[in-house]
Amino acid sequence: MVPKILSHDEAVEALRSFLRERSSYDVFPVSFRLIVLDTTLKVKKALEVMLLYNVVSAPLWNTAEAKFAGMFTVQDVIHLIQYYYHTSSWEGAAADVEQIRLFRIREVEKTLSVPPPPLLSVHPLRPLYDACRFLIRTHARRLPLIDKDTQTNGEVVISVLTQYRVLKFIATNCRDITQYLTSTLQDLGIGTYVSPEHDSNSENQFYPIATATMQTAVFDVVHMFSERGISAVPIVDDNGKVLDLYETVDVITLVRNGAYQALDLTIAQALKQRTADFPGVVTCSPKSSLSAVFSLIRMRRVHRLVVVAGPEDSQPGRLVGIISLSDIMRSLMGNDVPLGGSGIGAVPIDREL
Ligand code: ADP
Repeated sequence: MVPKILSHDEAVEALRSFLRERSSYDVFPVSFRLIVLDTTLKVKKALEVMLLYNVVSAPLWNTAEAKFAGMFTVQDVIHLIQYYYHTSSWEGAAADVEQIRLFRIREVEKTLSVPPPPLLSVHPLRPLYDACRFLIRTHARRLPLIDKDTQTNGEVVISVLTQYRVLKFIATNCRDITQYLTSTLQDLGIGTYVSPEHDSNSENQFYPIATATMQTAVFDVVHMFSERGISAVPIVDDNGKVLDLYETVDVITLVRNGAYQALDLTIAQALKQRTADFPGVVTCSPKSSLSAVFSLIRMRRVHRLVVVAGPEDSQPGRLVGIISLSDIMRSLMGNDVPLGGSGIGAVPIDREL
């Protein structure tokens, strides 16, 4: 039973208790669709399927071994683009990317020396709390839920748990608790912020935030995604005012259109190709409460928030910081408890595609 008025910390504790009493199954509707891709599928076909069903990632299935084989995600596509941009002509790159089969992607990532994505999964009946801690601890953006078929003893991919789904679930079902998350983002230190000590005349006046302008080439932004392991870059004007946000999913739209040359476009040109369902840039102020952020998550399709200076600032709209879903999740779960022990049901699946 939740008391009438909670402090911020008590509300966080109440949310953790809520997550301990639920399993990953609770996050999903009774009926849902799951797109699983065979590892022998060509990347071109995989992208077509993802476009058709409007998904940005999918579990992979190794049919020969009848086993789950990791995930195909936007980050994989970013890495493929980087690889071919450096190693081939435009025409060759387009042809190669279309022909490459999914099981070869890990080889490309090895060549690029990017860390391989964690091949992990969790049983869908484990407490949701454990699954969330696992997401935080492994820096995974998504966690495949794998069950066992009792008759064949084989693996069954049930679905994929994402930070977005968990936070939406909390925002929708725990309004009576999230309203007490009254501390501000600034006080909680949630997100990544422009360093006040940094020299504003230096090359990146927004350090440590990676930014771009409307004139930056898409490929340079793709490089930032890959190198920094981030999934969005604020687009700013000369005064540091936030104009837009370029996200990894935007690159997928370009590539899906078959226009690999489009990576030479400027951000301004690329943004014109954005689909009409772009939910818009969601902003907040450093003085916003975490409770207000949960209201936004409940009402809108939020994958990250851009922190901008408020109207009281001499430069309202100026970029101040960026908050990802993992930042929010970390503030709820804490990141101090070690993995392992009896509570975690995650099974490392350490095998090649
Ligand atoms: P998520 O992990 O939720 O998918 P990101 O990959 O975008 O989100 O963010 C990972 C981490 O990097 C977060 O701590 C976030 O604050 C930070 N971050 C996000 N975007 C940027 C950026 N453009 N520049 C610097 N840091 C960023």
